[in-house]
Amino acid sequence: MASPFPRLLPSLPFSSSSPPPRIFPGKPLPRRRAAVSAALQWNRKPQLAGETPRVVVVTSGKGGVGKTTTTANVGLSLARFGFSVVAVDADAGLRNLDLLLGLENRVNYTAVEVLNGDCRLDQALIRDRRCPSLELLCISKPRSKLPLGFGAKALTWVVDALRSRPSGAPHFVLIDCPAGIDAGFITAIAPANEALLVTTPDITALRDADRVTGLLECDGIRDIKMVVNRVRTDLIRGEDMMSVLDVQEMLGLALLGVIPEDSEVIKSTNRGYPLVLNKPPTMAGLAFEQAAWRLVEQDTMTAVMVEEEPKKRGFFSFFGG
Ligand code: ADP
Ligand code: MG
Repeated sequence: MASPFPRLLPSLPFSSSSPPPRIFPGKPLPRRRAAVSAALQWNRKPQLAGETPRVVVVTSGKGGVGKTTTTANVGLSLARFGFSVVAVDADAGLRNLDLLLGLENRVNYTAVEVLNGDCRLDQALIRDRRCPSLELLCISKPRSKLPLGFGAKALTWVVDALRSRPSGAPHFVLIDCPAGIDAGFITAIAPANEALLVTTPDITALRDADRVTGLLECDGIRDIKMVVNRVRTDLIRGEDMMSVLDVQEMLGLALLGVIPEDSEVIKSTNRGYPLVLNKPPTMAGLAFEQAAWRLVEQDTMTAVMVEEEPKKRGFFSFFGG
């Protein structure tokens, strides 16, 4: 029987013994124009595109690639731009979005209690005091298994309830998806109309990302953009890491953001203080903020080749378009 999931990873153009070839001759923007337009952009608020609430699932297939980090930082950035955001932690067994946001001590109720009629929806929504237009909703208590009845329909009901809240629907619902492609994944993608696929530039993450892209498309989610996380320009230059262009070529997805490997991410995870709040801003924090900006405007970016002017172009060579 033909597979219901038609996407297959295109055969890889390199093996572990040969470094990834350079695929495209990069077409960077003239540097001065890019810098001026980037500076001007920060004097305005991003223009919200699409119908609200925008329900976005943050997914990957593989675990540990940065879904929760992306949900926390993109969610907070959206809230700082002035949009109302509900971040839903749909990773029931290994919940940790509350930790990354530093809200773990305030989770008294979850969506499971809302569905059981033990509390109201607003009691399960935890407002971030640093940025009040961000609210967190956990699906269930840590280490507790989801009750059997909590599946795609239940999460869709929760998102519909957010839509018809008396205080108004949020602009964004971000759903932090569990790893894997089993029941938790099916539940998390059910209410979404768009997806943010997080991947790292390594072959295992890419294979999983490709499989997940096929599943999302089968579920009717056509708006899929990717965030390439933990990128190291030094490794790309030394041809020890796939370039963002290679990743884009393999997955064939629009690029929303490129996030560098940054030790500040780990520090911020441990402090429960998302990176985008850091002052002075860090490389990864700025990159998350730019990805959030593009998400609002339904914009994408163009990756350029880091190796074009090896001495002059640093990480910001990614912010080509
Ligand atoms: P997932 O939700 O996909 O399982 P997480 O967001 O929990 O992944 O991230 C897994 C680990 O990777 C965390 O320890 C996090 O701090 C680290 N990490 C994520 N992104 C980066 C980055 N850009 N630079 C450095 N460490 C990162
Ligand atoms: Mg996670």
